[in-house]
Amino acid sequence: PARWSLQGKTALVTGGTRGIGRAVVEELAALGAAVHTCSRKEAELGERLKEWEAKGFRVTTSVCDLSVRDQRERLVAEAAGRFGGKLDILVNNVGTNIRKPTTEYSAEDYSFVMATNLESAYHLCQLTHPLLKASGSASIVFISSVCGVVAACSGTIYAMTKGAINQLTKNLACEWAKDGIRTNSVAPWYITTSLTEGLLASKEFVASVVSRTPLRRVGEPGEVSSLVAFLCMPGSTYITGQTISVDGGMSVNGFY
Ligand code: NDP
Repeated sequence: PARWSLQGKTALVTGGTRGIGRAVVEELAALGAAVHTCSRKEAELGERLKEWEAKGFRVTTSVCDLSVRDQRERLVAEAAGRFGGKLDILVNNVGTNIRKPTTEYSAEDYSFVMATNLESAYHLCQLTHPLLKASGSASIVFISSVCGVVAACSGTIYAMTKGAINQLTKNLACEWAKDGIRTNSVAPWYITTSLTEGLLASKEFVASVVSRTPLRRVGEPGEVSSLVAFLCMPGSTYITGQTISVDGGMSVNGFY
């Protein structure tokens, strides 16, 4: 197969209507993959689908709240049906944040962020394992965060979910290598999406972020999706178990 192509591949990308997930759907589809994606909002999925069809992308969708166990089971059943029981690529993108001081989190906050960011990704790996194994050469990519690599100005629950995902990346890379499944994690710093637009509307906040970022700016979704695509291609078949930061140099900065 061509090293820089995803022609003939099948992909499940969670949370594809906005932000990083949307960029990943478009990147993979443009490189030739058939993509199935989901979100909680049927109307927005419909809008995206029209745009994608107009561009000639092969994308299908399911309405699904990924924080709910039986909805995850239904999503994977639908993707398995569409792709004939075989899946080459799983991108666990869905994630959210509740920003509070640790002393103010409620039990509900804890369960919600854990279920959305960590349990959903873990369970989707379990559910898709037979499909990925059937591929013979599959790639799982998690959208983690540098907030799970270093301690940054984010909520502790969020950071814990991302730290756990980075560990899960290593364990599955070892456990599932024999099944022809590679597992990597992409860890962004601030990216302009609907998740961060409120925060990034504050000039002071952006200034504090940028002051710690050697490249002196925040990132764009397309700067994350390019790495995700690479990690799914034949050109990356010896890379597994890694967490790679897409952060303008923030996580290595001790001085600048
Ligand atoms: P957005 O909030 O902009 O987009 C999230 C997408 O996921 C939407 O399509 C949303 O649709 C969908 N989604 C959210 N919750 C659920 C759910 N429970 N079930 C199904 N779909 C859901 O987020 P980003 O693009 O910013 O973030 C994507 C990932 O990147 C997350 O894991 C985040 O932690 C990570 N990340 C983001 C950074 C950033 O600066 N933006 C930095 C580091 C990591 P809907 O709400 O309609 O369901």
